[in-house]
Amino acid sequence: MRRTLIAGNWKMNGDLVTNAALLQAVRAGAQAHSAELVVCVPAPYLAQTQAALESSSVAWGAQDMSAHEAGAYTGEVAGRMLKDFACRYVILGHSERRSMHGESSADVAKKTKQALAHGLTPIVCVGETLAEREAGSTSHVVQEQLQPVLSEVLDQLKHIVIAYEPVWAIGTGKTATPEMAQEVHALIRQQLAAADSAAANVVRILYGGSMKPDNAVDLLAMPDIDGGLIGGAALKAADFLAIAQASQP
Ligand code: PEP
Repeated sequence: MRRTLIAGNWKMNGDLVTNAALLQAVRAGAQAHSAELVVCVPAPYLAQTQAALESSSVAWGAQDMSAHEAGAYTGEVAGRMLKDFACRYVILGHSERRSMHGESSADVAKKTKQALAHGLTPIVCVGETLAEREAGSTSHVVQEQLQPVLSEVLDQLKHIVIAYEPVWAIGTGKTATPEMAQEVHALIRQQLAAADSAAANVVRILYGGSMKPDNAVDLLAMPDIDGGLIGGAALKAADFLAIAQASQP
C-alpha cells in the first residue's frame, strides 16, 4: 500500500509575511487528511518553514541541491545543509532546472545519490515537452531521463519518489488526462520493476502539471498515480488542502 503524497513546489515565490500565513494554514488543515503533505520551499525560507511546521504532520523540503558534498561551488546548497534544517524531501531534475540551468539526467542521477547519502528523499522529476509528445517519443524520453537514476542508485530505489511532469502541462493550465498520465505512470512502474521488482511496488509516482482541486480526484484515482507535485495551487492553502482531500478514499 503506497501512502498518497501531496508535495507543494513553491518555486521562487513567497516572502516572510505570506509564507507565515500559508504555513500556518497548511499546518492547521493538515490533520484532516490521510495523505502525507510536504512543502518544498525556497532555501532561504527553510528555517522559517522548520519553525512553523515542527512537530506537525507536514514535512518540508527543498527544490534542488548540489551533487557535491562541500567546497568551491558558489551558490549551491549541500545535502547536509538541508538536513541541518530537518528537510525530509528534495525535488531533483525539475524541468525548469533541466531547461534553464542545463541539468542533464546524469547530473540528476548524481544529485539523487547525494540526497540519499544524506537521508533525504529525492523527488525525481521526468517528463516530455509538447514537441516530444507530438513526435510520439514520450515513453522514450521519460525512460531515458529515468535510466541514469535507476543505474546510479539501484540498491536504494525503494527510497526514491518519482514525479511525472509533462512539461507542456506545467503552469499552463493544460493537464494530462487521467488516462494519458496513467499510461506513462504504468510505464515508469514497469521500468522500475525491470530494475527492482520489490521497489516497483513501493515507490510512489506523483503526477505534476496544473493539478488543481477540480482535476485531482480523477487523476489520483488512477492505479499508478500515488500523489501530486503541485506548483501554482500549492501557493493557496485552500487549494493545496483540497487536493489532499481529493486523494481521500
Ligand atoms: C511544478 O512546477 O512542479 C508544477 C507541477 O507546476 P503547476 O502545478 O503550476 O503546473
